[in-house]
Amino acid sequence: MLVDLHTHTTASDGALTPTELLDHVRASGVELWSVTDHDTLAAYPELENAEGLELVPGVELSATWSGRGVHVVGLNVDLESTDLGEMLREQQAARERRAGIIAERLARRGLELDLDSIRRNAGSQSIGRPHFANALVTSGQVKDARTAFRKYLGAGKPGDVKTEWPGIDKVVSAIRAADGTAVLAHPLKYRLTQTRLCCLADDFKAAGGQAIEIVCGPQQQSLTGRLRELALDRGFCVSLGSDFHAPLSWSRPGVPAAVAGDCTPVWDRW
Ligand code: AMP
Ligand code: MN
Ligand code: MN
Ligand code: MN
Repeated sequence: MLVDLHTHTTASDGALTPTELLDHVRASGVELWSVTDHDTLAAYPELENAEGLELVPGVELSATWSGRGVHVVGLNVDLESTDLGEMLREQQAARERRAGIIAERLARRGLELDLDSIRRNAGSQSIGRPHFANALVTSGQVKDARTAFRKYLGAGKPGDVKTEWPGIDKVVSAIRAADGTAVLAHPLKYRLTQTRLCCLADDFKAAGGQAIEIVCGPQQQSLTGRLRELALDRGFCVSLGSDFHAPLSWSRPGVPAAVAGDCTPVWDRW
């Protein structure tokens, strides 16, 4: 069985509309699927007829831990939850404030950006750094989005504004209040030492976190093995996904369920 519990649509920073992604994911052979847009559930009204696929309601929440930006995926959440709805409203307000701060910081670096037009281009999407990356590319100030992140928007760069995000305890609580499973997203993307990664895992567990992603897009098998060990050692379930954003990019939909190995997969909980 192919599963994919981490994908994005145009409701956040993905290239495909929810319906287009549904077709793409189905054609890829995925059977168990979640759309996990950044800080929004806006794709779900369009996905009421996901025939032939088991669709698990999900979301990827932005949070901070120890001064870093981290992501927590909420899976099998109640789409009607008022607690989660309130958290998502706060997250969208945080994204709006943050866009202003990113624009100011990049302007101080001498970059020319028109925040109004970036907001217009983002439309109803969760506004974030990818929208700034697009603006820098289309205005010819960088050659591609990768360069925009490397120079201006990536971790530790001026456009990496995380002060507006809540702590992991708050986002985990909102997911749990919506009867969801809280999953630490892509633990290796934070570039932590093994000691710090274990600290994050312990704090996530203490906050009520229940699972970690052991695969999130293409990844060396040895790293998957390390994350399996971390999950077994700390008593986490495991989740699998692609973090799919666009066709023909680094990641394709679908991960074999067997990759969970000896660990308990999150879907066993539902
Ligand atoms: P934000 O939600 O505003 O914090 O933006 C984070 C998003 O930016 C991630 O979910 C990715 O989609 C995208 N992103 C992060 N790093 C890079 C990168 N190096 N190149 C392209 N996109 C990136
Ligand atoms: Mn993204
Ligand atoms: Mn993420
Ligand atoms: Mn993601």
